[in-house]
Amino acid sequence: MAVALITGASQGIGACIAKRLAKDGFDVAINHFPSEESAAKALEVAKECEAFGVKAVCFAADVSKMAECEEMVKAVKEQLGSIDALVNNAGITRDKLLARMSEDEYDAVIAVNQKSIFNMLKNVCPVMMKQKHGRIVNIASVAGLYGNPGQINYSASKGAVISMTKTVAKEYGRKNITCNAVAPGFIHTPMTDVLAEDYKTKMLEAVAMRRYGEPEEVASVVSFLVSEDSSYVTGQVIEISGGLSM
Ligand code: NAD
Repeated sequence: MAVALITGASQGIGACIAKRLAKDGFDVAINHFPSEESAAKALEVAKECEAFGVKAVCFAADVSKMAECEEMVKAVKEQLGSIDALVNNAGITRDKLLARMSEDEYDAVIAVNQKSIFNMLKNVCPVMMKQKHGRIVNIASVAGLYGNPGQINYSASKGAVISMTKTVAKEYGRKNITCNAVAPGFIHTPMTDVLAEDYKTKMLEAVAMRRYGEPEEVASVVSFLVSEDSSYVTGQVIEISGGLSM
């Protein structure tokens, strides 16, 4: 059975991706932040995944820490046997205009959204090399493509995710490992639920489809990118934004 490892999968888009890949027939490794609350949520996600007749195992790790990623990847290999697909989804925001943003707020977002990708790739790519097969999908953002006021930290981290995606695609293409990114726009999740109502209404004016996306609409594109149907697609960024920018 093929195995998919999804980071930050205890809620939101990550949880939805885990369930979709379980439905597709993957055994799933559900990474969650090491807290009681995230562990409990991840267990619920695992139960829903198991309903599709696959194995689902939860792994606590702060993906901004190299040592924790190393341990997690070892544990996934031991318990599930391989890592065929990696979805780097974990992410945070600490939104503020540049003038008000602290150094800590900048560094925190870079550590979780950007450095985590390096940490995971360092540990998972050697596994995929041995297998002579692998599918990597990084969750970027439209902010990484176009920038966004109040998100200099987040935009920088997601811009880096896009350039890291292309670099890995170039380095590992000959090893039969593909690496793509998706760039969601406004998606209904706990991350966007906290935004002010008037901001949300204003942002929708720029969306051609005039609605928020659902996490399932991100998961379905990830499902394609980890499947055999995308075997000749690598180094690409697919925007999932209802036509936010054209
Ligand atoms: P969310 O806040 O609901 O989920 C983020 C997940 O990441 C949570 O489960 C959280 O516990 C986990 N996480 C945070 N820090 C972690 C760490 N250090 N180690 C392990 N896990 C950690 O947000 P979401 O909207 O589901 O976002 C998922 C991804 O999609 C993020 O990378 C986000 O930047 C991206 N994204 C979201 C939107 C949107 O509109 N919601 C748009 C573009 C991109």
